[in-house]
Amino acid sequence: MSKIWLDGKLVDRQDAKISVFDHGLLYGDGVFEGIRVYNGKIFEFEAHIRRLYESAKAIRMEVPMTAAELSEAVTETVKANNIKSGYIRLVVTRGVGDLGLNPFLCKRASVFIIADHIKLYPEEYYEKGMKVVSALTVRNHPLSLPPQVKSLNYLNNILAKIEALDAGAGEAIMYNHEGFVAEATGDNVFVVRGGVIFTPPVQAGSLEGITRAVVIHLAKADGFEVVEKNLTRFDLYVSDEVFLTGTAAEVIGVVTIDGRIVGDGKPGTITRLLRKKFYDYAHS
Ligand code: PMP
Repeated sequence: MSKIWLDGKLVDRQDAKISVFDHGLLYGDGVFEGIRVYNGKIFEFEAHIRRLYESAKAIRMEVPMTAAELSEAVTETVKANNIKSGYIRLVVTRGVGDLGLNPFLCKRASVFIIADHIKLYPEEYYEKGMKVVSALTVRNHPLSLPPQVKSLNYLNNILAKIEALDAGAGEAIMYNHEGFVAEATGDNVFVVRGGVIFTPPVQAGSLEGITRAVVIHLAKADGFEVVEKNLTRFDLYVSDEVFLTGTAAEVIGVVTIDGRIVGDGKPGTITRLLRKKFYDYAHS
């Protein structure tokens, strides 16, 4: 029976319930993190905790515990569920309030932690590459909702994900209001052209992905040039390789975009190299 950490206590899954008056549910008012466990070790733990507190600060929400206490709670939940390799969902909701928007009427933010096994994309996607489509749904304007905030409000991404699913694709590429690539619905986007690796800057509307940062670091350490620059649909269409990065996806090659074949239609050499480097780094 899995145990969920909920506001200071480990409870059974069926008892892990929050109020219908929680603003996390009423308005998507809250923040979260998705974190991996590899070989019993919590991957990039500090970076995830830091991002969670920054997301909370950006939306004027106080996490009702210190970073050290929260980290301890995450570790305890992983242990209680005996997760050696898995996924952690760490969520802070605005808490219980009334039916109005005012977040300051919510007395205390609620924290819950789920540690479970993970379902990656099907193995076939990693071997043969994934099909993606360009979403018509434009990524939230960065001045409306800073893309760095990993908020509970994912409707923008969900609408684009529906477009991907309707098209029989694994992911959708989201563009910003200017037509530049922002990110995929749950992953960051990279392009390889002439041996150089490109990725959109965060300002284009992407989450500052932790996998993205690790992959940039690993690529640079291996001598690759990595350039953050605005990318268009054209750049995706003519690139040698396209790959996505994310906590759940890790590094995954893209082989078609809007039906157009990327490179030679197989996950590219640099994509495969970085996938392997990422695997080794995560399991070291
Ligand atoms: N963009 C979005 C919208 C995401 O939800 C995520 C996380 N699933 C990412 C990018 C990748 O970020 P990370 O590598 O930190 O998981």
